[in-house]
Amino acid sequence: MKSLALALPKISALTWPRKCANQHCRRSMIRSAGWWKAAGIRMQDGWFCGPDCFENSLARTLAALNVSARKQQPAYRNRVPLGLTLLSRGHLSEQQLKTALDQHRATGVRLGDVILHLGFATEEQVTSALAVQWGHPVFPLRSMTSDNTVRIPTRLLELNRMLPVYYAEASKRLLVGFADGVDYRILDAIAQVLPCIPSPCIIAASEYRRTLESIVTQARGKEVAFDRESSPREMAHIIRNYAVQTYAQEMRFAACGDHLWTRLKGRRHEMDILFRLAHE
Ligand SMILES: [Zn+2]
Repeated sequence: MKSLALALPKISALTWPRKCANQHCRRSMIRSAGWWKAAGIRMQDGWFCGPDCFENSLARTLAALNVSARKQQPAYRNRVPLGLTLLSRGHLSEQQLKTALDQHRATGVRLGDVILHLGFATEEQVTSALAVQWGHPVFPLRSMTSDNTVRIPTRLLELNRMLPVYYAEASKRLLVGFADGVDYRILDAIAQVLPCIPSPCIIAASEYRRTLESIVTQARGKEVAFDRESSPREMAHIIRNYAVQTYAQEMRFAACGDHLWTRLKGRRHEMDILFRLAHE
């Protein structure tokens, strides 16, 4: 008898029905009995009793997100331009800067790449000028190992010219390296989706390209991207289907510029789904 009494609180804690976060959930407390054993799915801070409640709430959340993403203004960059930083450090002459700027404006190629291509400065000089410009340290990618980092969809890595370079498990700190400028909004998005505290650093462009190639190869099968713009309803339906297929227990998401990044997490698998957000 004694052992049963001891076991009771445990059982009730396990089977106590959680409240579905869908305000319009039609499952009554009695009917939800069948769901007690089911894990349901978590989305950000809410828990949903089943796929229907999950999809309906998600569609509403995504509709609201779409509107706020459209209002987002590009980050104001109040920084000394890269060319001027190189000039002030004596790595570039005024004539060289003018030539590089003309070529940058005519071709749209990044100024740092133009300067390297013209041989006006070394990559080390450009990288350290970037670090001065943004006020973050340079991270040598040689010290990066694949077992102490986390996965971010390759599409986002390419768009932002960034890489997750170091993850400290104990402190949850994630170093994110940028080969161009730092986008602080993408760091906010990473913090929403991954259980980590991201902080920026600067990486050399050539090391970025080399490392990205191997990351792209490793990411195959772990992410899917939809290139056409989808409505919130369509996105919610697609996410639901993948969630059911992968036995996902949790879903997290964030708007990243023109994209919606969603991560589904099951007991064994993690999967990323990317959508293009509609901008008007
Ligand atoms: Zn429900």
